[in-house]
Amino acid sequence: MSSPHPPLFPSLATGQDLPALRFGERSLTYAGLAAAAGSLAGSIGSERRVALWATPTLETAVGVVAALLAGVPVVPLNPKIGEGELGHIVADSAPTAVLVAPGDELPAPLRALKRTDITFAGNSTAAEPAVPALPGEPGPECPALIVYTSGTTGPPKGAVLPRRALSTTLDALEDAWQWTSDDVLVHGLPLFHVHGLILGILGPLRRGGSVRHLGRFSVEGVRQELSDGATMLFGVPTMYHRIAEALPTDPGLAKALSGARLLVSGSAALPVHDHERIAAATGRRVIERYGMTETLMNTSVRADGEPRAGTVGVPLGGVELRLVDEAGAETSDRQEVGEIEVRGPNLFTEYLNRPDATAAAFTADGFFRTGDMAVRDEDGYVRIVGRKATDLIKSGGYKIGAGEIENALLEYPGVREAAVTGEPDDDLGERIVAWIVPTDPEQPPLQRDLADHVAAQLAPHKRPRTVRYLSELPRNDMGKIMKRSLHA
Ligand code: ATP
Ligand code: MG
Repeated sequence: MSSPHPPLFPSLATGQDLPALRFGERSLTYAGLAAAAGSLAGSIGSERRVALWATPTLETAVGVVAALLAGVPVVPLNPKIGEGELGHIVADSAPTAVLVAPGDELPAPLRALKRTDITFAGNSTAAEPAVPALPGEPGPECPALIVYTSGTTGPPKGAVLPRRALSTTLDALEDAWQWTSDDVLVHGLPLFHVHGLILGILGPLRRGGSVRHLGRFSVEGVRQELSDGATMLFGVPTMYHRIAEALPTDPGLAKALSGARLLVSGSAALPVHDHERIAAATGRRVIERYGMTETLMNTSVRADGEPRAGTVGVPLGGVELRLVDEAGAETSDRQEVGEIEVRGPNLFTEYLNRPDATAAAFTADGFFRTGDMAVRDEDGYVRIVGRKATDLIKSGGYKIGAGEIENALLEYPGVREAAVTGEPDDDLGERIVAWIVPTDPEQPPLQRDLADHVAAQLAPHKRPRTVRYLSELPRNDMGKIMKRSLHA
């Protein structure tokens, strides 16, 4: 019987012998993936909800596709988080089973769950068993994934993502990025968040293209894969930073990047300094997209558009985006910083078990309050200035975004990393504090010179009043700066 709903992965049903997934030496064709995920889907079909031990492996990719085929909501788990947080997520999401690669040991909070090993017949060959009849597709509002937010600003919340949100976002990216079945993605991200799992694995599979996962990100791996026919790279800013640092001494890397069709950055702001260094060495501009666990993708620079350092582009197809002031009214002055609100079929349904948080996150007319602050260029490009909670500093009567100060500081010689926060100040309300990782800890750039540089680049009231030196910035698994851990 044919399904009344269009499939999430049309290429799976065709059972073709084309490459789908490769992790190191191990790979699966679409035929192999259909066999592997189809058979696992059959054995988990009666579960209410499954957890997935999301190591960066072929098993994780098979596990998520199987759960989607079976119509069983899947909760990807970060294998690196502590048992406390894991216990919270397991208690909150209450899975009835956990999918795991054979041989992987599970930590205490997962041991009480029914264990289902993800097994399949290794590399695909022509002798792969015939594609099993795939189950009918569930309806578009059926929950597909429950993804926990990164926990950058507080404890992670489980966002319930319906199938409709996945297909909407991936199709909007197809349009914006001119993404086709010929694209081969280089992937070095973890598989328990939207970026690595939904964009990086489900995206290419929906298009009928392929993924080469590095297991663990390395500049060397990126160079090799891009030299060997891969067309796209998805990364977080810390990866592009490492690429920017390696470029001056690695001509092969510059050549490999110049040949790529698309270099995409997201999950946090890409420093302008890194964007410019990569552009200068390769002639290619990294394009930025902006999304969240709750909304999937909201904006992107388009493949046929003009990439500009420091902007996340324009709203994707189907996404309504507005900037609002503190009273909730749409900003009229383009220069005015406002909170980004979005509405569209890309949005999640709710925070799991958090009706109050869900209600507080939406406006009366159904827009989601992102908590991110931005302005718009004359031609509609969105420029994020930072998060409302941590990046907007109210100092001396001004509202100042941390992002532009960070960008200015990163350009200063001897600054390797920079983060800017506000701290209470009797005089100013809040005082601008710069946290600096110097390139050479023996000779850190001086506070006065940094302050003068920011004053000259931006404006005198934006100069840091205090500079603190660190050996590294606190970051989470996605490389996001954990500003809530930065205090004196
Ligand atoms: P939590 O909500 O648990 O505090 P989080 O917001 O970091 O964590 P995610 O949903 O993974 O969890 O991240 C979404 C956030 O990442 C956005 O709200 C935004 O602040 C930031 N972000 C994503 N892409 C970009 C980008 N291109 N530029 C700037 N910020 C970005
Ligand atoms: Mg968030």
